[in-house]
Amino acid sequence: MSAVFFLSPLAADAPEPEGGFAQTVRPAAEAVVSLRDAGIVRGDGIFETFGVVNRSIQAETAHLNRLARSARLLDLPAPHLDQWRAALAIAADTLPETGTGSLRLSLTRGVPGEGPSAWLAADETPADLPERHSGLAVVSLERGLSVHASERTPWLLAGAKTLSYAINMAALREAASRGADDVLFISTEGLALEGPTSSLLVYTDGEFVSPPRDEAILAGTTVDAAFEWLRTQGYTCVYRQIPAVSLGSVDGAWLLSSVRMAAPIRTLDGQPVTQQPELNESLVHALLARTH
Ligand code: PLP
Repeated sequence: MSAVFFLSPLAADAPEPEGGFAQTVRPAAEAVVSLRDAGIVRGDGIFETFGVVNRSIQAETAHLNRLARSARLLDLPAPHLDQWRAALAIAADTLPETGTGSLRLSLTRGVPGEGPSAWLAADETPADLPERHSGLAVVSLERGLSVHASERTPWLLAGAKTLSYAINMAALREAASRGADDVLFISTEGLALEGPTSSLLVYTDGEFVSPPRDEAILAGTTVDAAFEWLRTQGYTCVYRQIPAVSLGSVDGAWLLSSVRMAAPIRTLDGQPVTQQPELNESLVHALLARTH
């Protein structure tokens, strides 16, 4: 099952229209997106993908806050978060009452002089994903970015979730050409960053570690949720730099994202990575069990 909606984005301080924000959300059949839209011709825009379980939108506020941050980094008008909440609720309601799905919103710079465009798609996702259990063969690839990219080269938009994912998709094709499932990007300093569509989580010396959220990566909502749950289980969780060379001796490593939840890294550059099967199953279960 899948459904698409579009909306005319309101200014962040616009009052609620008579009849509520819901009436600003229109079905796809009425959608008009110009072929001159900067999102389409230049990938000049931002997006967010939300996980949905039993129609509950997971980490909605964290995603919307990240949307607002991405808008700031791209000098896009600030999104009206209540309008987006209304749109997300309408889209989530098209998904089955029980089961998993995703909501993907796109917000573009639009046609020059006409203001932003926005749309939203709801899709059912498979009840389970094999990689959550069997894991991933991952290759490390240079990202060509310093961990200081956000301060030194802000125009490279490190840390913004932009529509320009062509590089990320090219990296995944490179992995496939090497017989691998996924990628771990490495900074120019030799530090582990993230995957093309996921965050890195590592278990080492009894601690869970993920790279600093402001160092040339997208601040992941799932890794945040994983930390929250792991802390309830008594684990120490820290955001800290992870030298790529240290990954050969960790006690577990995962790639995390909103729809995938968590998938253990089975091999990195062909070398086996230690597995934590019980912990893995509990982590996947905890991430799927989130109701907000
Ligand atoms: N890093 C990148 C580059 C991503 O594209 C994503 C998700 O798509 C993530 C990290 C993980 O973010 P989240 O856990 O919020 O889905």
